[in-house]
Amino acid sequence: MDLKDKIDLAAKWIAESKKLVVFTGAGISTESGLPDFRGPDGLWTRRDKGLPPPKSPPWDQVKPNSGHLAIIELLKMGKLDYLISQNVDGLHAKSGIPFEKLAELHGNMYFMKCLECGKKMLFEEAGWDQKVWGKGYRSIPVKKGQPACPDCGGRIINSIVNFGDPLPEDDLYESIRRSEGSDVFFVIGSSLVVVPAANMPLYAKQHGAKLIILNKGETPYDGITDLRFSEQIGDVLPPIVEKVKQQVNQ
Ligand code: ZN
Repeated sequence: MDLKDKIDLAAKWIAESKKLVVFTGAGISTESGLPDFRGPDGLWTRRDKGLPPPKSPPWDQVKPNSGHLAIIELLKMGKLDYLISQNVDGLHAKSGIPFEKLAELHGNMYFMKCLECGKKMLFEEAGWDQKVWGKGYRSIPVKKGQPACPDCGGRIINSIVNFGDPLPEDDLYESIRRSEGSDVFFVIGSSLVVVPAANMPLYAKQHGAKLIILNKGETPYDGITDLRFSEQIGDVLPPIVEKVKQQVNQ
């Protein structure tokens, strides 16, 4: 199948779907200027070659790109049941995906989270000055007098999940539930190696979803995927969404 036929097929499946779940990794943010991990110029690839990290713009100046915006289009058409992301760059939330449609399995660099009631809040909202209180990671011991949850007084932590930290339970369970309930599961820009996040496509597939993978490098699911793209995200995702729009509006 050539690229055009594959784009048409993906669009047809999505247009016909009732429960589309999209899953994104660092690859969707590279076109915003952020490095990924295992791509040709990724953080780990360069580290393994003994090279310094790739240059990237300051995080707060990074903007959502055509890939993020294509997902917003799906949301507007009523086609997005749920979005699961491994990214901590906050670009999906910045582009306008509401938190009830979004699981950020590895956290979001702009947000803190209450360990008791689960409230998500910006660092400023929490009154957390990183110069005084540090990063607030879960593994850092609680400092005397540090800000607490404004709602319940519980301990608040940086929502970013570091290696060794547990994933946020609420987002994780919701992701499993939505993955199992999906009829089309679309992976964008992830090499699907970091578990448990990377198990989601498997849950979806086991429950009968069609699996679409758009990623430059190999993934462990290449053998079971129903449709596979290895092109640039910006060359594939916006045209798919454009086709979906035509079919939904017919
Ligand atoms: Zn709380």
